[in-house]
Amino acid sequence: MYSHAFSILFVVFLVVTLLVRFWLASRHIRHVLAHRAAVPAEFAEKIPLHAHQKAADYTVARTKFGLVSMLVSTVSLIGFTLLGGLQWLNATIFNATGGGMSYQLGLVIAFGLISGLIDLPLDFYRQFRLEERFGFNKMTVGLFITDMLKGMLLAGVIGLPLVWVVLTLMDKAGDLWWLYAWFVWTGFQLLIMVLYPTVIAPLFNKFTPLADESLKSRIEGLMQRVGFASKGLFVMDGSKRSAHGNAYFSGFGAAKRIVFFDTLIERLAPQEIEAVLAHELGHFKLKHIVKRISVMFLISLAFLALLGYLKNQIWFYTGLGVNPIIVPGQSNDAMALILFMLVLPVYTFLFGPLTSLSSRKHEFEADAFAAKHTDSRDLVSALVKMYEDNASTLTPDPLHSAFYDSHPPASVRIRHLNLGAAQ
Ligand SMILES: [Zn+2]
Repeated sequence: MYSHAFSILFVVFLVVTLLVRFWLASRHIRHVLAHRAAVPAEFAEKIPLHAHQKAADYTVARTKFGLVSMLVSTVSLIGFTLLGGLQWLNATIFNATGGGMSYQLGLVIAFGLISGLIDLPLDFYRQFRLEERFGFNKMTVGLFITDMLKGMLLAGVIGLPLVWVVLTLMDKAGDLWWLYAWFVWTGFQLLIMVLYPTVIAPLFNKFTPLADESLKSRIEGLMQRVGFASKGLFVMDGSKRSAHGNAYFSGFGAAKRIVFFDTLIERLAPQEIEAVLAHELGHFKLKHIVKRISVMFLISLAFLALLGYLKNQIWFYTGLGVNPIIVPGQSNDAMALILFMLVLPVYTFLFGPLTSLSSRKHEFEADAFAAKHTDSRDLVSALVKMYEDNASTLTPDPLHSAFYDSHPPASVRIRHLNLGAAQ
């Protein structure tokens, strides 16, 4: 009885999600094309028409590609659940392994590999067709394959032991397993934050200390003004994979470092780099990063508690097309984990705008911080260059932007910065 109700609820949420995504994407495409003919007046002096039109075409191509990916992942989601894909995989691996931990880990690995195979052609197309067509791809097929193998190796070395610990807790730690699993998960996330800059990221990129002395002393001056201590300034060879530029922070505590993509250093003037960095330091100083991480931890606690309840409900499995294995001494924990990860996004999609809203609020605050500690005109000119270089559209559909965008539209952001400067 519950099982059917749960299947119906799942289908309803899935259909609503698809309709909303399709509607937003088509609005976005229409809006961008309608503004393709001319550069918006406020940018007319700074951005040439051909760059504006490239951004429009790139945005439309990416949005269309997003729709294709959405269709593929929906078909695979339904195939795994209601059409019995997971049920088949479950029975096959159970029979092959005879149950126990090897069955559970085998199920997780097989599911991971199959999902990866489904995504592979899409990833390949995005990198070597879409990004290539607009001149952003700098990757060779060889690098694409080595990246993939390194990713799989990392998942095996870091991910599998974590899954093993969680499965063991689910099996042996009693009703409060989810609380212990949350401590493990939280500790794991913190560990990754420490290991990422020093161990994981260097597997994929080269990091060299910033060599430009005048830029370095400029940046050190800024860090001193705002009271920020860092383990170092690094330049990353982002140009190895993509022409898109960026700057970010990584690590925390004493291990904090600031990373600039080489593409960004080449393109921006020193005072513009300083302004961009001031924005990033704003995120740190205004505690945005700590807030974001804390919210993430709280949400994962709530989700784990929910999984603690769902894993004991037969309808959770049968409603999603899987017959749980009912053999004494065997458990369905790995299946519960997989089903939960698989269907959770269907139920959380409509909450997306809340995350975007809080992220955009933080962006405004970080911009204001940068304007206070550097010249806001430098941040404006840096933003304009970054929009142009990344072919980001200046004319997104307002609703599409409100729903998805972690950053406010360029025109709104720049208007805020200019207003701040005029006061
Ligand atoms: Zn930001």
